[in-house]
Amino acid sequence: MARKIGSRYTVHQVIGRGSAGTVWLGEGPDGPVAVKLLREDLASDQVLVGRFVQERTALTSLDHPRVVGVHDMVVDGSDLALVMELVQGTDLRTRLERDGVLTPRHAVSVIADVADGLAAAHAAGIVHRDVKPENVLLDLAAPPGPGGAPRAKLTDFGIARLVDAPRRTRATRIIGTPDYLAPEIIEGLEPRAAVDIYALATVLYEVLAGFTPFGGGHTGAVLRRHVTESVPPVPGLPDGLWRIIAECLAKAPASRLRAAELAERLREQLPGLDELPALAVPAQGKLLAEEALTPGEAVYAEAETGPGTHRRRRGPAVPLVPGPSPDSTRDTHTSLRRPSPHELASYAAESDAQRSNAVPAAHRKGRRALVRRRRTIAVLIAVVLLLAGAAAAFAAFAGGGGGGGRGGGREGGRVGAASLAGSVLAAPSPRSAPLIPRL
Ligand code: ADP
Repeated sequence: MARKIGSRYTVHQVIGRGSAGTVWLGEGPDGPVAVKLLREDLASDQVLVGRFVQERTALTSLDHPRVVGVHDMVVDGSDLALVMELVQGTDLRTRLERDGVLTPRHAVSVIADVADGLAAAHAAGIVHRDVKPENVLLDLAAPPGPGGAPRAKLTDFGIARLVDAPRRTRATRIIGTPDYLAPEIIEGLEPRAAVDIYALATVLYEVLAGFTPFGGGHTGAVLRRHVTESVPPVPGLPDGLWRIIAECLAKAPASRLRAAELAERLREQLPGLDELPALAVPAQGKLLAEEALTPGEAVYAEAETGPGTHRRRRGPAVPLVPGPSPDSTRDTHTSLRRPSPHELASYAAESDAQRSNAVPAAHRKGRRALVRRRRTIAVLIAVVLLLAGAAAAFAAFAGGGGGGGRGGGREGGRVGAASLAGSVLAAPSPRSAPLIPRL
């Protein structure tokens, strides 16, 4: 079913669907085109339409073989359409889901192509902000690259920013896809070109290993990992290639390579990757549990591999025990570092020492005073009991051995003993019964 878009374009059939709209195969004055019709809610947003018109020149002027060109933008009634170069092929996400990971050689070639496209965009002052496999198109009609690798083109330049902008009433809103978000975006810094490098290195990791380094689980956990965790190594990857990935996934944006450098360094790796087959990396969970974590650390055990999904790490949101290799690149805006097991142990020992020194010192004085008080009371009780005993014995002796003539003397003795006992013990002792004056 043909449909007119503006006065110059006709679309025939849907060739793809994305978050922002539907992509149609179309025809224009210069031949076949791809037309992205933005979703109705976006197209009816006047602020958004205004922004598209404003950015029209920037979007349409980016002309590079590794970037999907935007030929035109059409605002027609309720339609808002981007007319693009038609790429005959598939996007990288679909390719990954269908055939699994790429060989290192193909992966490096594809990502080097995308880095070329980014270099052109960055030179023009445009940051993509949503680099991910969905936005990498493989041009299967073009002559293949090194080792038969498909040529790649980056699409959707600046679209994420435009589409999100009108709804970005809160300054804190984050644009992008969690698995590919650079830590500085999560921390609220202004996204610069380095965010695209971080995202592209994440894509490279993913096409090699089958999962992203920090993905899986709750979005909050993914974001936290970007900021605080070191990159899990990919076993079997040549050192040189691993170093490039690690450099581009540095937490500090300034430590990452620039797009042109990345493309060059990747291509330098190509000769060494000739014979290397696609890596058989276990699911991320298994990898972390068996190879990268200390025994006490969180164990990731599962991977999802259902239709329409790709393998992703699953596991607890927060690894509670530090891993063996704290990230040395976390040196600028993020000064978080997980303490090593040794540091944790010495902290515990230190705390114990503090407990036996500082805390008891405060208590020791009070405890000594208490002991002294108790001793005094015990001595007093003993004295009183002795006196009471002596008085009773005296009374018994005096009562049994003498007549009345010396009563005054006896009474005086009884009263004296009873008063003493009463004043100290506050209650008459049972022994005081015989001391009751006989009337
Ligand atoms: P969104 O950005 O809205 O999520 P995409 O731009 O990723 O949507 O497009 C969705 C799908 O449409 C892509 O995965 C791809 O298969 C197809 N597509 C997009 N642009 C083109 C193009 N220029 N040529 C051919 N197919 C395209």
